Amino acid sequence: MQSIAVLGATGSIGQNTLDVIGRHPDRYRVFALAAHSRIDLLEQQILQFRPDVAVVVDPVAAESLRRRLEECAIPTEVLSGCDALVDVARLPEVDTVMAAIVGAAGLPSAMAAAKAGKRLLLANKEALVMAGDLFMNAVRESGAVLLPIDSEHNAIFQSLPADYRRNPERHGVAHITLTASGGPFRGFDRKRLTAVTPAQAVSHPKWSMGPKISVDSATLMNKGLEVIEAHYLFGIGPDQIKVVVHPQSTIHSLVQYADGSVIAELGAPDMRTPIAHALAWPERIVSGVDWLDLVACGRFDFMAPDLDAFPCLRLAFDALAQGGRAPSVLNAANEVAVAAFLEDRIGFMQIPEIIEATLGAIDHGPIHNLGDVLEADKVARAHAESLVALSA
Ligand code: NAD
Ligand code: MG
Repeated sequence: MQSIAVLGATGSIGQNTLDVIGRHPDRYRVFALAAHSRIDLLEQQILQFRPDVAVVVDPVAAESLRRRLEECAIPTEVLSGCDALVDVARLPEVDTVMAAIVGAAGLPSAMAAAKAGKRLLLANKEALVMAGDLFMNAVRESGAVLLPIDSEHNAIFQSLPADYRRNPERHGVAHITLTASGGPFRGFDRKRLTAVTPAQAVSHPKWSMGPKISVDSATLMNKGLEVIEAHYLFGIGPDQIKVVVHPQSTIHSLVQYADGSVIAELGAPDMRTPIAHALAWPERIVSGVDWLDLVACGRFDFMAPDLDAFPCLRLAFDALAQGGRAPSVLNAANEVAVAAFLEDRIGFMQIPEIIEATLGAIDHGPIHNLGDVLEADKVARAHAESLVALSA
């Protein structure tokens, strides 16, 4: 029986994770659930899965959940605050951590799980973007088992040999190709993009996801973050990472080998597949996902990404090439700009402008420890916020 902590339980990935876990009560036990403040949904999840511990980061929401659980005599202990996320991620009772908090807020708990040698199911790509080398070192030193949840990275993981160990040369890996749906604005030019609204940006054609990653998919920053994520996860150079737009989102990513072979993972665009894969690896379990019907798919299309209309992808490649703190700065500026766009404070095309200006203004010095990462994040957020305020 695997004992699991789901961090970000009320989000899109968290809910999908509990959907898969709920199909296998003989294999998995939910030890802890954590969320920011959506206690109505969290309470339902607690009633269904009866975890020992729940974390609600917001203290007011935590207190009200505590009262509700007391009233119905549910013994789940409710903790609050950011430190409680870190504590839960390294509890000895927890074997597996699903790191599904969105954004930089997920870094400390994901890092704690990595350092504690957990089986770590990583959805929170921002943690790797911000602290890639530190994160991978922590995994290596602790012996943690890191399993990617991002569908592209999960596909690559499945398409690489089992003993790959971040060594593309030894295994004849020539390059990897990340597929991108192109998002809701595929085919739009810059002029059309200036007028798009937050509501349009969050209605993704293929995947149902949280608001932040939906906007990232619309700007192609999601693919940019995934390029950086792939670099660290698979120890592969930026020049060996390609991006292709594939609107059907059926081929989740591909590995090209030296002999010309291409190995890919295909499936319906449903996150329960990578979640079930990572939960059960190296075994396989039922996920609830529909079978892939190739005749119903009919055709697959591919096109190059439009870096003029969607400069975020280029900015991410640039930040990876600069290294050091640049990916943290990119991520922080993006989080600020996306939040401002969702609040209607800036336009869609100002997202890349703010990120580029922040990258240009902040020192990209090296990273020695987590403190350096958090400092870069803080400074970049303040700078990006000032740019938002100027343009509002
Ligand atoms: P979401 O917005 O639906 O959910 C976010 C979760 O994080 C919620 O449970 C929320 O309570 C929690 N949270 C937010 N801020 C927090 C904070 N400050 N402290 C503690 N908890 C906090 O997001 P999502 O779409 O589920 O995405 C989660 C992560 O998974 C992101 O990093 C995203 O990039 C990644 N991811 C998501 C998908 C997808 O299909 N949704 C696919 C690939 C990768
Ligand atoms: Mg993805």
